[in-house]
Amino acid sequence: GAAQIVVVGGGFGGATAARYLRKWLRAARITLVEPAARYYTCAFSNLYLAGLRDWETLGHGYDALRTLGIDVVQASADDIDPVARTVTLSGGERLRWDKLVLSPGIDLRWDALPGYDEAAAEFAPHAWKAGAQTHLLRQQLQAMPDGGTFMMVIPAGPYRCPPGPYERAALVAHYLARCKPRSKLVLLDAKDEFSKKPLFLEGWKQRYGDMVEWRPPAEGGAVVRVDAQRREAEDAHGARHRAEVLNVIPAQKAGLIAVRAGVVDASGWAPVHAGNFASTLQPHVHVIGDAASAAPMPKSGSSANSQAKLVAAALQAELLGRDAPEALYTNTCYSLIGPKHGISVAGVYRAQSGTLVEVPGSGGISPLGAGADFRSAEARYALAWYESICGDTWG
Ligand code: FAD
Repeated sequence: GAAQIVVVGGGFGGATAARYLRKWLRAARITLVEPAARYYTCAFSNLYLAGLRDWETLGHGYDALRTLGIDVVQASADDIDPVARTVTLSGGERLRWDKLVLSPGIDLRWDALPGYDEAAAEFAPHAWKAGAQTHLLRQQLQAMPDGGTFMMVIPAGPYRCPPGPYERAALVAHYLARCKPRSKLVLLDAKDEFSKKPLFLEGWKQRYGDMVEWRPPAEGGAVVRVDAQRREAEDAHGARHRAEVLNVIPAQKAGLIAVRAGVVDASGWAPVHAGNFASTLQPHVHVIGDAASAAPMPKSGSSANSQAKLVAAALQAELLGRDAPEALYTNTCYSLIGPKHGISVAGVYRAQSGTLVEVPGSGGISPLGAGADFRSAEARYALAWYESICGDTWG
């Protein structure tokens, strides 16, 4: 009979995979399993934090995918048997699959930073999954007194959205500069280098003067313990940093269902073949998006969307007995320093001798020292990027 393809996770990776599988394999049965009726993007959630965007503009439903003929099941996948090729849903139902695409995103490592667990996140939100945590962080920011300190604890890589913490710092600074100008932002960072660093340092300075203070490990950035209720972070030198609002972004790993499916290794992420994002550990399973080990591709919505299309093309070729597609992937990450100040990095990647490499001379990064017109044009492109990728993903 017709091939059955199940996609787990209706985020950037999964929704895109379901859409393109539907388009390119007319005879197959395509099922998308996602517990939420509406998906809220982390992308642009920093604009919401800063009061620059309404929450509902970040929400995307699944009706357009249903209209295309995808069977969207509102449930979570509780277990996967990669040998029997079944997935067990939260309602108890069991689905059979010939091919499985997993795009479950991240889980937080609650055991990585002493003092920071799920209960602590109610006092010191991470806001690294869009939803209740994002609202909590925004409420805390709004309640913060003028002259207070907003402190971020930023992990070493790999983690979801490498430039995300620094964009958050910029947009929180934008809010504070307007509403609470005596306040400070302190970034305690576990690493010396980060994505678009010179552009962020330049932009923070230009727009917000000395408001943003970034501290690498040698200057107290390496946090070894957190007291979330006291909103305090202790660094590797034993110094304690206090804040009025504490945003802790902990280390991360692949979403639990990927572990259940047997596709995750000791790194906490899912190793995949560079040519088609097939799991190296289980046949007939593909893993895309944040859950996959895809370095040097960053963990971004843009990467997940691109990987999803390649997987759809690879499954089409396999099931129709055609030649496999050439493994080419793209990523574009815009970050906003302010509503009219955008910066970006883009890259093209391909599989070469079994690993992913960035294509030499492809992509690029915004120039340092560009003028206001250039920065404001990139901020407009960022908005256009959001509209177009969300249209390509959820329709
Ligand atoms: P997700 O989008 O998280 O989707 C995973 C889905 O799987 C979720 O809907 C979840 O409910 C579902 N799921 C999980 N477990 C199960 C299960 N057991 N059964 C069924 N469903 C399950 N990226 C960009 O490209 N551009 C940006 O500007 C950008 N900005 C960001 C800003 C911030 C602050 C953050 C935190 C991230 C940002 N990102 C950005 C990164 C982007 O959000 C992620 O890289 C992207 O969401 C990854 O897609 P994914 O499909 O792997 O996971």
